[in-house]
Formats: sequence, structure tokens, C-alpha cells
Amino acid sequence: MTDQHDSYAESRAAYAAACRLLPGGVNSPVRAFGGVDLGPVFIESAKGARVFDVDGREYIDYVGSWGPMILGHAHPEVVAAIHAAADKGTSFGAPTQAETALAERIVGAMASIEKVRLVSSGTEAVMSAVRLARAFTGREMIVKMAGCYHGHSDSFLVAAGSGVAEQGTASCPGVPRALAQLTVVAPYNDAAAVRAAFERHKNRIAAVLVEPVAANMGVVPPAAGYLETLRRLCDENGTLLIFDEVISGFRVAFGGAQERYGVRADLTCLGKIIGGGLPLAAFGGRAAIMEHLAPTGKVYQAGTLSGNPIATAAAIATLDLLARPGCYERLESLGAALESGLARAAARAGVPLTINRVGSILSGFFCDRPVRDFADVQATDIARFKRFFAEMLERGVYLAPSAYEAMFVSLAHTDADIGRTVEAAQASLKAVA
Ligand code: PLP
Repeated sequence: MTDQHDSYAESRAAYAAACRLLPGGVNSPVRAFGGVDLGPVFIESAKGARVFDVDGREYIDYVGSWGPMILGHAHPEVVAAIHAAADKGTSFGAPTQAETALAERIVGAMASIEKVRLVSSGTEAVMSAVRLARAFTGREMIVKMAGCYHGHSDSFLVAAGSGVAEQGTASCPGVPRALAQLTVVAPYNDAAAVRAAFERHKNRIAAVLVEPVAANMGVVPPAAGYLETLRRLCDENGTLLIFDEVISGFRVAFGGAQERYGVRADLTCLGKIIGGGLPLAAFGGRAAIMEHLAPTGKVYQAGTLSGNPIATAAAIATLDLLARPGCYERLESLGAALESGLARAAARAGVPLTINRVGSILSGFFCDRPVRDFADVQATDIARFKRFFAEMLERGVYLAPSAYEAMFVSLAHTDADIGRTVEAAQASLKAVA
């Protein structure tokens, strides 16, 4: 056993204990640090831009719970709102005024949303939005893009068929073939493939579903004109455009990717940041579509904990803090500083690194070409990323353990944190050169 392993001893013991009771030792697969020898570090606590593990190690955190923690961990105003709400009761299963107050904020932020429904996870938000789109259009097929993730419900765990714009096949055992065939998978940033899908499946496509900024294959920004073309194709074909802004909403701008790129969706899915670190997500759109949901309409959708008062309080506190002037300018400048620092470090180490960034989310891909879609990402040096990840962890920087994820910068990161991260990257890149 090496010294390095000893310093993770508590985490390794915790993982062994967890594996006896939880499948794979975790409650969400990516947490298991697959492909990294070390196994997962177990987190004890977090504050600001730092997470602390059970071995007493401290890390600068760029996972941010996979996106929600844009204010940093345990922000005092969010924690105070959670305490105050908890004191009044944890769940009522009845409407509260706080839900309307949160809806007001979401509708105010997102130009395309007139009405919104609160749910508890991003998976639920997308699943429900797609059901609504199917009911509204009277059609069954959907188009999604390879490399975009929309939660773990059946229709979205689908891989591309044998040719572009063909019906998909289940990418996960247990997903019914019949359902997978209703999903067409097109490459990201390839509007021509979506046009081909419309030609092949005329009047059958209910919705085009897309992450307007892809962030689940690493960060891949939309090419110029891509979102506009999707909008036009949907309009021409009587199809709803669904933006999955679970990551990009309140992240790439207060009003999400639709504000940043000026393209409006028919339905928008939100999650992560709007929960302020608690289980809360939402979907919304024009009232004329949303009114088809029960109880006004016939499309059934429900949830015991939907609009939970503690999650709603965290959400309101988070959005109010983000609405203050200067937040997104600050996130932009932190993201830009990290991007340029990493690019410099890679050049010095002689390691080819392509960095994609939109505001405060970014990914460094080990390759020397532009990364525009999932095939580009898969062609990068994934094994080198895993080694880089372990080197960074050892130097006190906590990245997502997968090349298919983003780095999330928060308002709690300081210029000094960025500087320390770039120094760690410099040494880590040399080590993997
Ligand atoms: N949509 C996107 C774009 C996501 O990134 C995620 C989760 O990572 C989801 C949907 C699913 O959200 P949840 O994990 O809250 O179910």
C-alpha cells in the first residue's frame, strides 16, 4: 500500500461498507469514479467552493453537485431559508404561496414560459414535458441528440439506429424496444440530420428535445444557427421544440440558453440550480400548452413532494441571489480566467487540449481538434483524462471523474482558487504528457 492510498483510507473503507448494501456502493452511477483506480472519495461536508472528504482532505470543487451549487456550498442565505421553511413543517401535500412566488420568478426569467409545473427531478421534468408534447400534438415520436442526457426515463436511454435519423435502439436493458423505436437519435449540431428525420417520419414527430448547450458529453456549445434551424424545422412541421435547460438554465445566463442565444423553446425543462441543492425541478411553456396538464387538462402528471416547501424556499433564495446585478458577469470572468489558464498550462506541458466553454461551464478535451458532437468527444483521449483527473484530485482539485462531464464554476470560487487550479493543472498535465 502506498502513502497516497493511505491518505484515502477512510474513503476506501466507507466504499467497501457501502458496496455491501448499495448496488455499486452508490445511489447514482457516476459517483463510483468508474475507471479511476482509487474508487470514490466520500464527502463529509462542503462550504463555499470547497468540499471536504472523510479522510480530512480538502478540495477546490468543480463538480458543484453536478451543477446546482452555482452560489457555492452552504450559502448562508440559502441555508437560512431552508431552516426557516423546515421550522414551519416539511411537507403538506397542499398548495403554498411559496410555489406561486417561485413560479413568478421562473416565468419572469424565461421569456418562453407563461406557466410552470414544479416537480422533484430533471428526469421527471423531461419525461413529463415529452408526455405533454405527445398529447398536445397527437404524435408519438421524438427526436433527441446523441450525447445529450435527459434523465433516466425509458424514452431517453436510446442510442442511434443503424443510420442517421433512424429510429433508435435501447441503450439500456429494460427499455422496451417498442418505446426506443419512437425515439430518433441525431448527431448534435447536425440540423440536416433533424431535417432528414422530419422527411422520413412526416407528421409523426411530437417534439425535438435538445440540450441547447450540451453539457453531458462535456460542454459542447451549439454551432451558429443550429438552435435557430431547429426552431424553424419545428415550426414548419407542427412539432414542439423542447429545451432541456436542466444544466443551462440559470447557468449560461439568468434566462438560460434561450436568453444567451435568443431562441425560444415551446417547452423548457429546468432543474439543478432552481432547486438550490434540494430536489426540485420544473417544466414550463406557453399557457395554451401547459393548460393540457391535469387538473385543467387530461395529461396526467403528479408528485407527492412536488413543490416541497423546503426545496421551494431554497429555490427562491437561490434565484433571488442570482438575480442581483453582476453575478453572470462574474461567472463569465471566472470561467474565462480558468479557460485561459488551462490553455496556457496545456501549451506549456505540450499536451493537446481543446477547451469548450459557455460562461461558467467548461470542458477540456484531450485532442487537437474542435469538439462539436458526441463522435468528436468519443475520439478524444479518455484514458489520459482519467489519469489527469487522479492527478488533480491528488493536488486538491475535485473534478468530475468522467471526460463526459463539465467543470462547474461557482460564485464562491475566487481568483486565487482559479490560480491554484491552474497551478495544479500545470503539474498534472506534465504528469500525463
Ligand atoms: N437533463 C439534463 C440536461 C441533465 O443534465 C440531467 C441530469 O444530469 C437531467 C436532465 C436529469 O436530472 P435529474 O438527475 O435531476 O433527474
